[in-house]
Amino acid sequence: MDLKRHCASDLRPPRVLIHTLGCAKNSVDSDTLSGLLKQNGFELVTRESRADVIVVNTCGFIDDAKVESIQVMLEAVRWKQAANKRRVFAMGCLTQRDGAEIQQELPELDGIFGIGEWSAMLSALGANPLSVSGSDKCTMFSGKAGPGSAYLRISDGCSHACAFCAIPQMRGLYRSEPLEKLVAEAKLLARTGVKELLIIGQETTSYGVDTYRKRMLVELCQQLADIEGIEWLRILYAHPPSAPPHFLSELARVPKLVPYLDFPIEHASANMLKRMNRKTSAAKMKDSILAFRDGREDVCVRTTVLVGFPGETDQDFDELYRFMEDVRFERAGVFTYSPQSGTRGAELSDPVEEGVALDRLDRLMKLQKQLCLERHKSQIGSTMRVLIDRNARDASWGRSTWDAPDIDARVRVRGTLTPGLLHDVTISGAAAYQLDAVPIYDDSIKRGESCGNFALPVLSR
Ligand code: SF4
Repeated sequence: MDLKRHCASDLRPPRVLIHTLGCAKNSVDSDTLSGLLKQNGFELVTRESRADVIVVNTCGFIDDAKVESIQVMLEAVRWKQAANKRRVFAMGCLTQRDGAEIQQELPELDGIFGIGEWSAMLSALGANPLSVSGSDKCTMFSGKAGPGSAYLRISDGCSHACAFCAIPQMRGLYRSEPLEKLVAEAKLLARTGVKELLIIGQETTSYGVDTYRKRMLVELCQQLADIEGIEWLRILYAHPPSAPPHFLSELARVPKLVPYLDFPIEHASANMLKRMNRKTSAAKMKDSILAFRDGREDVCVRTTVLVGFPGETDQDFDELYRFMEDVRFERAGVFTYSPQSGTRGAELSDPVEEGVALDRLDRLMKLQKQLCLERHKSQIGSTMRVLIDRNARDASWGRSTWDAPDIDARVRVRGTLTPGLLHDVTISGAAAYQLDAVPIYDDSIKRGESCGNFALPVLSR
């Protein structure tokens, strides 16, 4: 291995800092790169002052994400210019789509790579060419989400064409990962102490339709549920048109699947759904949600909504508002639209004024905050299981079955509990985005047991 290319005079391994922007799917790519770098003798660091190389894993999903990616690349270039022999590379969704433009604007970058170009990246970083051949076929399906929790990316790309979304241009057509490889990787994760698998993809409900010619998410989850040590399965990024009621009913019955569904409706008016090319209706989406809830009070349906899409009238917004009031989502994120180049939405006329879009966002967020507060208050006095993420001297923070990492609420538990373990708690207080709780000590839960060293495995495909 040609380590001297990176290091100063000593023979220490080159130190790489990976800066990850964007969503959990991007994190899985960063973890794949980390695994490959470690296999090739590199050291991963978390502080710029210790790094020889910075890799920026970019996101291009919305304008804010693009701006942030460019700012981080500019900061990395300034870091590079402050000392000799430093290098900066960029990868990810934004470089996949706009790589040529970024190269022109930022010639100081030492290399720009698209999705999954692992061999080229390792070569550019200085790994031995012999040890990197075939690296493009070496992909991890998982990435860290927290202590005791890991993302399992079951597919990449997307074959839909929602008018506001540039993901298909950036990540290509839908590709399901092989079921047996996913199960094998999940078994390795379970052996490292992972208790929760967060099942992700650009959209998860179409898993299998490309390679197996049928939806295979239920079969996959059933096999994952059989793995010893895995206690929670959580599905993110369902796609409403690909999630009919009978399918969600079947899915909801899979053992260990937490009562949680991420079901991004985006809108509810027929006019908007058509303009957004969503190929569904408010009535169909409601039927699917009801099928997943199946009358149970303990089910959490999370949604994402987009306001201010071109042509959205007051009447369209009222329909959306009434739908949100009617369905009473337990969790929701609301975003304002910004046009993405190359998408159908960017060509539509009749834009919505920014102030109007922001006002609509505000109204929906107020509604949602009220709904969340009511649901949380109704949980005071109940018991639930919480996966601890972190702790301090006299309090710990964790997530219930209703909370995915980074996007949902959290539970603050009195006392210092071990991260990565599940604890039963009693809810003692409620705010819109947080529950307070006290632990129930039970001898069947081994207190203080470590969740192990969570080192992600790397599988060859
Ligand atoms: S389903 Fe629609 S919103 Fe989701 S990734 Fe595909 S095109 Fe984008």
